[in-house]
Amino acid sequence: MKLVTFSAGADERVGVVDADAGVVRDVSGLLPAGTGVLELVTRWDELGPVLERPGAPEAVPLDSVRLRAPIPVPRRNVFCVGKNYREHVAEFGRSGYDTPGRSEALPDKPILFSKATTSVTGPYDDVSAHPGVTAELDYEGELGVIIGRGGRGISRADAYEHVWGYTIVNDVTARDLQRDHKQWLLGKSLDTHCPMGPYAVTADEIPDVTALELETAVNGESRQLALVKDLIFDIPELIATLSAGITLLPGDIIATGTPAGVGIGFEPPKFLRRGDVVEVSISGLGALRNRIA
Ligand code: MG
Repeated sequence: MKLVTFSAGADERVGVVDADAGVVRDVSGLLPAGTGVLELVTRWDELGPVLERPGAPEAVPLDSVRLRAPIPVPRRNVFCVGKNYREHVAEFGRSGYDTPGRSEALPDKPILFSKATTSVTGPYDDVSAHPGVTAELDYEGELGVIIGRGGRGISRADAYEHVWGYTIVNDVTARDLQRDHKQWLLGKSLDTHCPMGPYAVTADEIPDVTALELETAVNGESRQLALVKDLIFDIPELIATLSAGITLLPGDIIATGTPAGVGIGFEPPKFLRRGDVVEVSISGLGALRNRIA
């Protein structure tokens, strides 16, 4: 099932999408008043079956509504993973933007950081260039994992039982802030720098997540192309590492890392400019399309 959050006037609605038909059914009327996708994921065992009941209004064209991020305001920061594809480790190391220096060595443990909840924006919304704050804006197309059942001390073997589903994240990065402040929070968390969506796709629609292919294009030019199976630290490893001492909560989002082909991977770097359109697509999950404003 593909769930969306969309706005109808001042209201926020939950929809179920038929991507092939290009339509969305507003299912908010089937749910307790005020239930959003985060609440739905949290109470999935109870509320998921409600979505199958008859009584939802007629489907409307998907392009007639304004999609927000499927979880527009996450419960807490989006968990992120740095340097999790081999070729990206090398390009990042060469770029001189890493801290403390130019190393192409593979990490031996997952590198974790987070993006502020206020950075989350819709799948087709404009991304702010933040002039005066950053002059070196970059993209990072990534698979996002949405946690269903929470827990602490989740083993690799049990990890997928805690995955509710998947989405796409563009981990937009202000490279100068990342370099100059020697951290991965400020440079990753500017407002609108986490486009997400377009759908929250339940795990049962994705029989083998490692087979998914990710592509990022800028103004139609392909920049990143990779398979999820090429992650250095796979999804079970990320869940086991995070949950070893932090209780994962329903609706938590883990951006699993970006492959080679980011702007600083080029010489000279190809930073984003106003008017550029960044498209991140993953097979079975749809595509984000965001203009730099
Ligand atoms: Mg990233």
